[in-house]
Amino acid sequence: MADECAVGMFEDGASVLEAWSRQWGPDGPPVELPPHSAGCLGCGPENPHGHQLRARREGDTVVCQHVFDSRHVGAPGIAHGGAVAAVVDDLYGMLLFVVGSLAVTRRLEVEYLRPVLLGREYALTAWMERREGRKLHFAARVDDTQGQLVATSRALFLAVDPAHFTSSVTSPGHSDTAPVPPAVPEAT
Ligand SMILES: [Zn+2]
Repeated sequence: MADECAVGMFEDGASVLEAWSRQWGPDGPPVELPPHSAGCLGCGPENPHGHQLRARREGDTVVCQHVFDSRHVGAPGIAHGGAVAAVVDDLYGMLLFVVGSLAVTRRLEVEYLRPVLLGREYALTAWMERREGRKLHFAARVDDTQGQLVATSRALFLAVDPAHFTSSVTSPGHSDTAPVPPAVPEAT
């Protein structure tokens, strides 16, 4: 499953979402989720600068373990806040498989409660709090191996049509010249 690139399935929106629901819906035993694309900054296995996350669905949550390294340093010995936010954002992207919606980040908040240290393992968990039409309200938490809460997050994602991706990205993860995707008006 990890070798499969989810973005490659954007050919037909309906079949994509049906396939997602069948494979990664909230029922059934825990299952590993596929990368968004080979080059995804968060989870792409071919991105040497990325985090190469391996997430799994457990019930209606998405979880992963992650170790930040020297590529992600901010203050000495501490992960850059933007790197932490990138990982949380990508975990929300994994949650889309579970909730069965194509969506993009509209707003992302991270509350940093304790330093995220390089070389330490952290457990990240994301879930959907509620859905209002196109608005998907997500939340996440980051815990260290002692069970201490080190960060929390909330985010607003907006559901989009598959054309949002196919009309603007010709070669996901590998293009240096991909045009800017269309703006996403916020649903009212
Ligand atoms: Zn990803």
